[in-house]
Amino acid sequence: MRGLLYLIGIATAVLVPAWAAVAADAVVSGVRTGIHPDKTRLVFDLDRSVDYSIFTLSDPYRVVIDLPDLDWQVPSTAGSRAAGLIDRLRFGLFRPGNSRVVLDLKRPVRVKWATMLPPRDGHGYRFVIDLVETDRAAFLAALAPPRPLATPRAGTAPRPKPRPGGKKVVVIDPGHGGVDPGTTGASGGFEKAVTLTYGKALATALRERYRVILTRDRDIFLPLQQRVQIARDADADLFLSLHADAIADRRFSGGAVYTLSETASDDEAAALAAKENKSDVIAGIDLNNQDQEVASILIDLAQRETKNFSSRFAGVLVSTLRTQGVRTRRKPHRFAGFRVLKAPDVPSVLVELGYLSNPREEARLRSAEGRAAIVAAISDAVDAYFENLSE
Ligand SMILES: [Zn+2]
Repeated sequence: MRGLLYLIGIATAVLVPAWAAVAADAVVSGVRTGIHPDKTRLVFDLDRSVDYSIFTLSDPYRVVIDLPDLDWQVPSTAGSRAAGLIDRLRFGLFRPGNSRVVLDLKRPVRVKWATMLPPRDGHGYRFVIDLVETDRAAFLAALAPPRPLATPRAGTAPRPKPRPGGKKVVVIDPGHGGVDPGTTGASGGFEKAVTLTYGKALATALRERYRVILTRDRDIFLPLQQRVQIARDADADLFLSLHADAIADRRFSGGAVYTLSETASDDEAAALAAKENKSDVIAGIDLNNQDQEVASILIDLAQRETKNFSSRFAGVLVSTLRTQGVRTRRKPHRFAGFRVLKAPDVPSVLVELGYLSNPREEARLRSAEGRAAIVAAISDAVDAYFENLSE
């Protein structure tokens, strides 16, 4: 099923490039849902009128609302609870100049009505969208011809330059971001914020000795493929993707290091990879155009050497984590089919820092001491890995 585009409202000038923005962003001061017998209504309170475009995606059913950059003065968890036909609502920066709202739907819907209302009856500007239930056939029929998948360049990632002084290039990839929050911790905080904090701290620790590139340095969404591409474009020597898991069982704790494999080391690793690979779906990207690429996750012979280096780094990292007293899982080196680890020529590992669903571990991960220990362990592992390599 192709995900497809249709536009409501003003179709032109929807996106304001970040560099062209002169006025402050429009402010969103409220997000409300109203459940009626015949429809689910979603309302955003705004301080001015903004342009928008709406499209729907199937498998899973989603409604995506694209808006200019907005100042979201609402709790980051607003809309995270199911309401009416909406299972979950997410919002955040999709790319520079472009905020995005993704509605995960319980059932196929029809966008009955969407409009920007001017101030009236004590309300300010309101963006209102009404969803009514429909069936799958009607949902699919309402989809317009496929829109080519946009592959925006990273607005924030520095472009690769010739290597100064032969320094090794380390790409640090803070998982998730923007409209994709990642997992939610026991305290309600998001994985995307934890990974960004760790990414920046690790970049600071490594910057003197390596050329360090962060795939993102702010709260913005990046497609998985683009993260891989940043590492490839930079001709990186090592790619580190940072994550923090959350699961229903709050007793689970401990970090783990993952490398790519066509066969998962265990069911849990396979489930984790499936969850992490959903990042693009969560951000409202139509993956159907990428089906073939996703399907071809199998590693060919050319990747074998890269795979060996990835495993070698994972082994070093597991030992430095333990030396620094960082809690790790039993069998801390695991493997599965993570899409973000797919660069065929860049040794890549995915680090799950720990479980945000465990209140004690979340507090430790968020503390300065907890962070310092993990950052030191990763930094030491990078040093040890490259020292061994050059011997
Ligand atoms: Zn993650």
